[in-house]
Amino acid sequence: MTTTLPAYDEVVARFEPVIGLETHVELGTNTKMWCGCPTDFGGEPNTRVCPVCLGLPGSLPVANKAAIEATIRIGLALNCSIAEWCRFARKNYFYPDMPKNFQISQYDEPLCFDGYLDVEVNGELVRIGIERVHLEEDTGKTLHVGGATGRIHGATESLVDYNRAGIPLVEIVTKPIPGTGALAPEVARAYVTELRDVIRSLGVSDVRMEEGSLRCDVNTSLNRPGEEWGTRTETKNVNSLRSVERAVRSEMLRQASVLEAGGRITQETRHFHEDTGDTTPGRSKETATDYRYFPEPDLVPIAPDPAWVAELKAALPELPRLHRRRLQEAWGLSDADMQSVLNAGAVELIEQTVAAGASPAAARKWWLGELSRRANETGVELADIGATPAQVAELQSLVDAGKLNDKLARTVLEGVVAGEGSPTEIMTARGLEVVSDTGALTAAVDEAIAANPDIADKIRSGKVAAAGALVGAVMKTTRGQADAKTVRELILSRLGV
Ligand code: ADP
Ligand code: MG
Ligand code: ZN
Repeated sequence: MTTTLPAYDEVVARFEPVIGLETHVELGTNTKMWCGCPTDFGGEPNTRVCPVCLGLPGSLPVANKAAIEATIRIGLALNCSIAEWCRFARKNYFYPDMPKNFQISQYDEPLCFDGYLDVEVNGELVRIGIERVHLEEDTGKTLHVGGATGRIHGATESLVDYNRAGIPLVEIVTKPIPGTGALAPEVARAYVTELRDVIRSLGVSDVRMEEGSLRCDVNTSLNRPGEEWGTRTETKNVNSLRSVERAVRSEMLRQASVLEAGGRITQETRHFHEDTGDTTPGRSKETATDYRYFPEPDLVPIAPDPAWVAELKAALPELPRLHRRRLQEAWGLSDADMQSVLNAGAVELIEQTVAAGASPAAARKWWLGELSRRANETGVELADIGATPAQVAELQSLVDAGKLNDKLARTVLEGVVAGEGSPTEIMTARGLEVVSDTGALTAAVDEAIAANPDIADKIRSGKVAAAGALVGAVMKTTRGQADAKTVRELILSRLGV
């Protein structure tokens, strides 16, 4: 195997990538999949468990109807057919964080199948085929302690927390996606982003990659033009949207270098490393036979009433892509402007700011300007910046009322982000309000006139444009708090023009 990686454009000139994504989504139901244990994130280890989710002998599972409903809604939003009758299946394997030594999943009878999701990449629609959407249960979590890395190697003990065991988990598997060429990494990212937005719009999961409620495995293969699809690898541990894109790209580069050197790709799972952006081999993949799947004998089949499914379908919310299109029109934005709103992750924030009373232009200005800049500088998500849409709308209403000018508004916004209170509170507490009271400004105006006699003469002789310099001087002495328009009017009237 060569050690230097080929350039990306050489790779896509010589090979065609095929990608496929397996996404796991933890549902936000109140209780677990087979028992009444609560599901919220966090909590002392092993406090949210019972005989059922601990797999104790004699306990029996009962399926959670809310989870089945949520899965069907996801399937419908992804244009899938819904099975009229299907069963859960036992997937047998031993893993310490899986208390029963098998996972209740679905095998050849998924609840939803054969759908698609349209995603937009560079203004073009790409239709991603959906193979299946099925329902299963999550495992617990293992914590390796005593070592430097948190990995099992070098650890002195491994601790298991079963709080997550049995939380409903939906798996969404795409059909193989060929034909995207150089755009394969971006298509992968756009798909996961769109899928996340769809699921969020359904309100069935908080789909947070950083908390693990949305997890993604990325399959990648390369073939030479005209040849059959290559052997795929499956990259795990992909914990952000950016990593989805990087994982595809880095596998394409690695596989190309193996193939160019005459080597073969082994079908295996690989681990993605955030720090280096490359992948290393994990276990070689189990086959279906290793799992000894069989229909779960402790559960009745699911047979959703078609009338109920039709009701769920009729009640689906507008798809995020169409919703965005409608917002773009309402806000009067070009495709490029809308794209920057999307890239900044500001769609919902602007939408809520407008709902709170600001104009679309003002809402966009604050979120994409000052607040995005701060978010980038401090490395936090825009939504977690510390200013709410309601506060931004309030700030803008103070500007519109002439109480704050742009500069003062930015100072107030800094206070909001720092948690000092609402814009009005900060403006009052810090005495930042625009001074438009002529009495208070006259002294400053007279002072500026006295200090700049030649400019004053110019204005008197009719060169009104020169007033700008005196306005600037007054703004300086009032530390930016004077109302510029009032100052200008005062200057002209004091000079008798
Ligand atoms: P497994 O459980 O073994 O990972 P799945 O069927 O759940 O298998 O998922 C396999 C994923 O890999 C699917 O998204 C599928 O579309 C994708 N895939 C299949 N063949 C290829 C290939 N040649 N190249 C890239 N992806 C592929
Ligand atoms: Mg799979
Ligand atoms: Zn339980």
